[in-house]
Amino acid sequence: MGKIIHLDEVTINQIAAGEVVERPSSVVKELVENAIDAGAKKIEIYLTNGGRQKIQVVDDGSGMDREDALLAVERHATSKIREFQDLQKSSTLGFRGEALASIAAVSRMTLQTAVDPAVPGTKIRVEGGIIQAVEAVGAPRGTNISVENLFFNTPARLKFMRSIPSEVAHVKEIVTSMALGYPEISFRLLHQEMKLVHTLGTGDYEQTLEQIFSPAICQELFPVAGEYGPIRLTGFLGRPNIARGNRGQQYFFLNRRFFRSRMVAAAAERAYDTLLPVARFPFLLINLELPPELVDINVHPTKMEVKFRDEKEVFRGIIHIIREALEANVTTTPWRPSYKPPAGSGGSDQKQPFKAPGLFPAKVEEAPAEMETAAGMETAEITPAPANVKESTVPFSAEPPPEPPPVEEPATITAVQEGDGARIFTLFDTYLLWEDAEALVMVDQHAAHERILYDRFRSGTPTNMQYFLAPLTVELTQAQLQTIQEEGELLRALGWDFEAFGGEAIILRSGPQDFPAAEVEDLFLSLLNELGATGEARQVDPKERLVRLMACRQAVKAGDRLSPQEAAALIRDLRQTKVPQTCPHGRPTMVAITKTELEKMFKRR
Ligand code: ADP
Ligand code: MG
Repeated sequence: MGKIIHLDEVTINQIAAGEVVERPSSVVKELVENAIDAGAKKIEIYLTNGGRQKIQVVDDGSGMDREDALLAVERHATSKIREFQDLQKSSTLGFRGEALASIAAVSRMTLQTAVDPAVPGTKIRVEGGIIQAVEAVGAPRGTNISVENLFFNTPARLKFMRSIPSEVAHVKEIVTSMALGYPEISFRLLHQEMKLVHTLGTGDYEQTLEQIFSPAICQELFPVAGEYGPIRLTGFLGRPNIARGNRGQQYFFLNRRFFRSRMVAAAAERAYDTLLPVARFPFLLINLELPPELVDINVHPTKMEVKFRDEKEVFRGIIHIIREALEANVTTTPWRPSYKPPAGSGGSDQKQPFKAPGLFPAKVEEAPAEMETAAGMETAEITPAPANVKESTVPFSAEPPPEPPPVEEPATITAVQEGDGARIFTLFDTYLLWEDAEALVMVDQHAAHERILYDRFRSGTPTNMQYFLAPLTVELTQAQLQTIQEEGELLRALGWDFEAFGGEAIILRSGPQDFPAAEVEDLFLSLLNELGATGEARQVDPKERLVRLMACRQAVKAGDRLSPQEAAALIRDLRQTKVPQTCPHGRPTMVAITKTELEKMFKRR
């Protein structure tokens, strides 16, 4: 007897199930998509034991008659396409006609469905892909599918199931995504008695967002809508302060289909640019609309990934549209009350308690903890560096601890300038304070200057650079020499002029203005080292790294005393930058306390 045989239907379906049905959440996804395709207005999902024991999806959609219901549990039975050409035009979520058969092959499934409540409906029981019973039942219009003992007959798959909380979290993510994509459909997800998702299906996007996310998140979202060639993008974006350490708050839809895409995430994050520190990811709800012929949806068995005909164009379009929305909603309204610096990005100096030596009587220094955390007071966590220490003491600093300040100067608040009709004050030679749009705004002079310089360097006009009266001779190591030979053009483009001097030395003809010679040399060498850096640093574009470094090193430091004119110029220049409220590393340049918040603090409200 030959070795090759035809596989039987049950085995084929079990193999297919391996592709489509990975875990309870994939079952939920397929069943919910079918309900959406059937025109349901209300979809309810019930889980028992994280879906391991039972997954039930009930919809009020079109239902199926007896004949269709029997066909539906067969492989490649679909009502949605007739031939391959239809695939491209397909506007339904399903089209392969294998989900129900695959699920039925690896579970005990009961399908109850009715087209018209006046006519008896159909109930089919399938076990491991084999139909056990078909009967006529009275049932409401719609479909009710329950999937029990998932993977009972495929022990290898069963082993891969995760803990109940993990499976529940996955299902919740799927249902949340679907609910966000279909605000006109009501979704309800229950795990045992726990209601995890409930949207009302009013069709209103903002209401749906409010039914899914907390008020704290919702108030930081703003709409985006724009077009770029054939691409249309709508949705909601989060302000930087609700960014997270992972991409769990990103939802993408293409022509109303939920999908995943590194490209879309990368484009959006590129648009946020320096609004966010490294490794912080924004809240994104993105609906893309593209003519179907520019997309290929049939690349993934569960259709979670898509292929764009012109990936680069879509990438550019997303950046363009999101940037515009950010410019209109974030960068031009920088004085948001209660700006919360992203957790973990603030460095040690932001975590210290509020202390204002000299400003208040000593007793106030030991303010009770709750005073610091009172509503809106996050913004008050400004900690002055001691007057004579440039950067506040970093715990892991290799340098010896700073000497105590000789005389504890009382912290001065000095009115320095009438600029734009507003007085500007300096505090601790580190912060600039003024009144603006019903708020007390505080700017960190170093971060602000860093932002200004960064924008100038990046725009390709190296201001702040000058030719020296006396050129500097700088000795280089072999590695540095090599770097300069390979990547010297990048430095020239940023305003550094140099030439070989024989041996391992070079002559440096230009560099930053108003910079002590020793520091110029040091900065130049740091730039060379940065250029020659290996490892993780390499992932960031070298020009970007140089620009950040130059901006940081040339910016005024905390503790540098600014003249009134300098302070006014700093604020004026900061306002003209594209992203005034964060420094190039994504840390805030400014915080604000609104008049309302002050009134609350003083119990006037
Ligand atoms: P596909 O969705 O790819 O067509 P499925 O195996 O998921 O394949 O479903 C097979 C067919 O069963 C569908 O094409 C549809 O006609 C029918 N069907 C499945 N679920 C439902 C439902 N909830 N309501 C109405 N019809 C359904
Ligand atoms: Mg389907």
